Amino acid sequence: MSQYWSAVVRGLTPYVPGEQPKLAKLIKLNTNENPYGPSPKVLEAVRAEAAESLRLYPDPNSDRLRAGIAAYHGVAPDQVFVGNGSDEVLAHAFLALLKHERPILFPDITYSFYPVYCGLYEIAHRAVPLTDTFEIRVDDYFVPNGGIIFPNPNAPTGRLLARAEIERLLAGNPDSVVVIDEAYIDFGGESAVCLVARHPQLLVTRTLSKSHALAGLRVGYAIGQPHLIEALNRVKDSFNSYPLDRFAQAGALASVEDHAYFESICAKVVATRTQLVAGMEQLGFEVLPSAANFIFARHPAHDGAALAAALRERSIIVRHFRNPARISPFLRITVGTDAESDALLTALKALC
Ligand SMILES: *Cc1c(COP(=O)(O)O)cnc(C)c1O
Repeated sequence: MSQYWSAVVRGLTPYVPGEQPKLAKLIKLNTNENPYGPSPKVLEAVRAEAAESLRLYPDPNSDRLRAGIAAYHGVAPDQVFVGNGSDEVLAHAFLALLKHERPILFPDITYSFYPVYCGLYEIAHRAVPLTDTFEIRVDDYFVPNGGIIFPNPNAPTGRLLARAEIERLLAGNPDSVVVIDEAYIDFGGESAVCLVARHPQLLVTRTLSKSHALAGLRVGYAIGQPHLIEALNRVKDSFNSYPLDRFAQAGALASVEDHAYFESICAKVVATRTQLVAGMEQLGFEVLPSAANFIFARHPAHDGAALAAALRERSIIVRHFRNPARISPFLRITVGTDAESDALLTALKALC
């Protein structure tokens, strides 16, 4: 019945999210969720909001939340845009800031939603190969382009690009919008937010899904100079004026204000990551250096897909990407609790 579809929809290759299994009792290390719950203050705020009137629309501009995010980062509220998950923020950035004549640039191995947005919005793009050690080489981006986007740390490799390199990228690309997707920056990298004041073309995006343990609330945001934020608002108000419901606005504000809490759960995840990497290396895995809440690892003697399937039989779910071929030997494993790491290492010991 696809004769009813538009040409754009016929041409789409949609993003495939990691599985959300309905079975309980699985050790779920496949979608980079935080193993710890959100701040108790988030639950309080959401409960209090539930007692208020759901009859009324939420604040279309999320003013209180944007003020809270601005205070946390030391920027002005008109430098903050919020959306229904950072995926929505990114989608608006593609349409508002990255759709130009020239192709945009992103790494060949990166967040697989970027080419999907290019398909949806009919944006030309060129994939720039990572180095043999899966690093972004900034010099490769000093060519005419319609914009640049990548996550830092990158996904699914976990590798971090130093802030000095991002500054060099910005200096060499004064006329292109550069989007740095900091979905995982709270797990060990230097943020580019402090560069926003000096670089009118820089947009930094963040999510509460990973470091704040709020994947279910769907809140993400962007920080940039007001002219970039205005472009995002123009798209938002041409699509959905109320992307964040009352619960999301109240819960996200409580989480940002309780930064001591989310910083403490990030520190726990980072400590577990160190242990997990050591354990994997002992089993013969090669693990890329990770600044994220996941690791990217391969075993010289074992096939990635086969290992993922064998773990699944032992009720442990990790993520495996068949494409591109260069990463098919790897597993992307979310850092869970210490107990989950121990269970994973025990299972791998039996397999490797
Ligand atoms: C998880 C993730 C996102 C999306 O986060 P949401 O806020 O949950 O939509 C964006 N970019 C990267 C690189 C991610 O890994």
